[in-house]
Amino acid sequence: MENQAVLTAGKPTPELPTRKTLSDALGTSRLEASVVDVEVQTADGKSVRVHVLPPEDLGLVHAAGLRVYPLRSAWRHLSPEDFRIVGTARQKADWILTHRFCSRCAAPTALDPDTQSIRCPKCGQMHYPRISPAVIVLVQRGRRALLGRSPRFADGVYSTLAGFVEPGETLEECVHREIKEEAGIRVHNIRYFGSQSHPFPNSLMVGFIADWLDGNLSIDPDELTDAQWFDADDLPLRPHPRSIAFRLIEDFKQRVQNENGSR
Ligand SMILES: [Zn+2]
Repeated sequence: MENQAVLTAGKPTPELPTRKTLSDALGTSRLEASVVDVEVQTADGKSVRVHVLPPEDLGLVHAAGLRVYPLRSAWRHLSPEDFRIVGTARQKADWILTHRFCSRCAAPTALDPDTQSIRCPKCGQMHYPRISPAVIVLVQRGRRALLGRSPRFADGVYSTLAGFVEPGETLEECVHREIKEEAGIRVHNIRYFGSQSHPFPNSLMVGFIADWLDGNLSIDPDELTDAQWFDADDLPLRPHPRSIAFRLIEDFKQRVQNENGSR
């Protein structure tokens, strides 16, 4: 689903093709067959219909000469509210497309619009949207922060460490385990920072700040290509400003500079 495009029509997003543009280009019947329509509530309580195109049909759109924005790069073109709408739609569409058959009895399923769930008409099993919590942690050691590089990052970019919550685990336990696994150190004083939906395809990033307790850096080469302690006045390239990772690092920088009276 990584290259799935999200197309909106209920709300003006000039950079994205509307359903009418698509209908004209592709032919309505072909479009009806492949697009997943999803209802999303806007911040001001209105209902918007978003049309999500499965990745296997992207070729049709390209062939018609239309521009398509994969959601991963769409957030550079969309306002935060529009990104929230298309992100929600993409997450719901992914759930609908991956639950067309009951995972318990294999019968075809049906979406129940009243409960926003998918119900199996044969065995009654209810299927709810998947949301996968992950922690993202800024580890602080005095005026330095621990930042690492994943192999998939753009050149020179470092970020806070992150990992998915495992069954039976609290968020705090996940913070301890992930930091120990990825960087070989122990932390304490874990504080909640904030959260961010990350619909690729269904993560909820839960941000924390933690203090270094003990241990020397020893990185997990399967997860990171590098990790270092960076001074607040000498930070590397960071992820996109709208990411929670950027906000965690910016918050750290501001706090250290306020405490030290430096610039
Ligand atoms: Zn079933």
